[in-house]
Parts: sequence; C-alpha cells; structure tokens
Amino acid sequence: MMTLVIATRNAHKTDEIKAVLGGSFRYLTLADVPDAPEVEEDGDTFAANARKKAEVLAAWLTGFPELHGDGPIAVLADDSGLEVDALDGVPGVRSARYAAVDGARAGNASDAANNAKLLHDLERVADGQRTARFRCAMALAAAGQDVGERPTPVFEGVCEGRILRSARGTAGFGYDPLFQPTGFADTLAELGAAVKNRISHRARALAGLREHLARRR
Ligand code: IMP
Repeated sequence: MMTLVIATRNAHKTDEIKAVLGGSFRYLTLADVPDAPEVEEDGDTFAANARKKAEVLAAWLTGFPELHGDGPIAVLADDSGLEVDALDGVPGVRSARYAAVDGARAGNASDAANNAKLLHDLERVADGQRTARFRCAMALAAAGQDVGERPTPVFEGVCEGRILRSARGTAGFGYDPLFQPTGFADTLAELGAAVKNRISHRARALAGLREHLARRR
C-alpha cells in the first residue's frame, strides 16, 4: 500500500483529503513527523508553494526509512486560498495571513480575524461584484528510494462562488462561513463535509491526483 505523508498541520485539510481519497492509502501527517523542517511559503503561486513543500519534505523523509511502510512513499502538499475579484485576487497566497500582513505580527492570523478583515475590505462592494474562488494546488513528491526521480506533478482545483455579508454555518474552516459556492443557497460551512468534499477546490485537485496515480498503475 502506498503511504501518503500529508504535509499539513491543519486537521481540517487532513480530514478533507482523507475523506476524498478514501482507504486505499496509508496516511501520515506532519503530526507524525514533528521534527520535519518548516518550509517557508514564499512563492507567488499556490503551485510553487505546494511544490516546494512537497519536495523539501520528500528529501528530508528519505533519511527516515523507519517511517516508510511496505509500499512507495510520497509527500502530498496542499497550498490553497481565496481569490476575491474585487480585491484583484487578494488574499490569494496570503490567505492564511490576511489579517496579519499589515501589522508587525508575523505568522498566520485566526480564521475569525481573517473573516472580519475580508468583510471589512468588502464593505463597500456591491452584491453583484463579490465574486471569488477558492483555489487549491496539490503537489505529489516521491520520497524514499524514488526521491527526485520524476518531476513533481501539481494538480489544481477551483471552486467558484461569492462572498456574503455575514458568516453563516459552523462546518469546515477558514473562509467557509462567508463563501457561497455557485449554484448553492448555503455557504460551504452550512453545506457541510459531504457536499464540500464533492465540489471543493481541494476535491477537484484530488481528482487530478487520483487520475495521475491510476495512469501510473
Ligand atoms: P495554507 O495552509 O497556507 O494553504 O493556507 C490556506 C488558507 O486559505 C487557510 O488558512 C484558509 O484561510 C484558506 N483556505 C484554504 N482552503 C480553504 C477551504 O477549503 N475553506 C476555507 N478556507 C480555506
């Protein structure tokens, strides 16, 4: 069985990835490898950040054969975020740090602070102009004896929608309570995991990953 090391400390992302990919893999996350190097997400695109995270961790993991299991092992890195048209694509690759970028504070901001800033920045934007999309890039880098053998593929997924004027719902994470996907009356946080894992940017990127793995079998 193939081992996938999901390169995140975000339990919501991990749950969504496992729910979409199902039981055909052995999963590890960064919680299982607490000494793994921190990778700075300094790329201009989601794809660049996902590829960097996957490749750095795959190279590092190669030094720990005891983690490898009995099949191939690869790192799966997700970089994702929200692009708001009225803000020229912001917060984009800075989605996790949106409310933290102006001040001296470094690092990520809380979901509540990011959502409050988004509502504030869109206060004067009319209902018809509040279009946005979630974008996800998933990179898959082989570790173990296959490390560096092939170029790292990146799979992208997009979920189109719009930003409401107040938060609704409690499921999911991040900007889910403000995001109404196109074709739905509810927010992602109201729709819940089963629907989100069918239509989300992450689910769509993972569909590309699944096709890629099926082609290699
Ligand atoms: P990353 O961990 O650097 O990829 O940052 C992702 C950030 O984008 C998260 O902290 C969220 O704010 C936002 N984000 C990404 N995917 C989702 C999602 O599925 N729902 C809501 N917010 C998301």
